Amino acid sequence: MRADAVVGGRTSRVLTVLGPLELKARFIRYIMTMPQASVRVTELTWGEYGEHVDAGGIVILPVGSTEQHGHHLPLATDTLIATRLAELVATDLGAVVAPALGYGFRSQPETGGGEAFPGSTGISGATLAMLVCDVVMSLAAGGATRIIVLNGHYENASFIVDGVERAVDVGHRTPPRVLVARWAPFVGPQTLARMSSNRNIDWSREHAGVAETSLLAALCPELVRPVTERARVAPAPKPYQAFPQPSTRPAHDGLLAPAGDASAELGQAMIEDVVTGLARAARVEFGME
Ligand SMILES: [Zn+2]
Repeated sequence: MRADAVVGGRTSRVLTVLGPLELKARFIRYIMTMPQASVRVTELTWGEYGEHVDAGGIVILPVGSTEQHGHHLPLATDTLIATRLAELVATDLGAVVAPALGYGFRSQPETGGGEAFPGSTGISGATLAMLVCDVVMSLAAGGATRIIVLNGHYENASFIVDGVERAVDVGHRTPPRVLVARWAPFVGPQTLARMSSNRNIDWSREHAGVAETSLLAALCPELVRPVTERARVAPAPKPYQAFPQPSTRPAHDGLLAPAGDASAELGQAMIEDVVTGLARAARVEFGME
């Protein structure tokens, strides 16, 4: 919901019942007292939100994690990336962004460093699937007919799909249309080529590496600490997983891919790819073209 969309919509309704002078005075009063229009559901009233979904407006649900991201990125990195990208996509589409789900599937040693790092706080896949299912069902019950679930934590992917499938299969005569997306597949080949050491990027191990560090440097620069020399190397992957997970922290700092080539400029190029690509996909899938 953009500011111009909100003002435009309400102005046209007022025009139908008021004369020009009274309209002008009321409109000026309205503009002077109107709070800043927001894409954040948390900052809307129920009436503003209801107006949005009644008009077929899109609701974006970011899903992230609370997980270590090395010494240079915060624990909420995945949630912050999903939320900020969702807000930019929402601005492009005239959508709104629901409160993010800030806990994700448990950190795994080969894709997120594992649970032994202080602060990595995960939930089971079954819990995540039911959480996504409940929230999507509740959004639909509240009038949302077009929903995007934007995932920022690689390991969440299948559990989000499970939750969304349950939500659209169960209890709906007319289920909402739901897009499930990760940001990574929208990063285009030209931008990937700029990640010099990551031309054949392995997204499953792109954890606190050049991609996430660049994105956060562009989206929340105040939260990015200096990238150390140790962050220029990454541990070799194991081609298997062993359980139970180790209870002691591994020798590395928490990065699974090098972050040395990260930059805000690269992050900005990634943002443009993701926002353009996801907004285009939404217009196609929601029949807005
Ligand atoms: Zn991450």
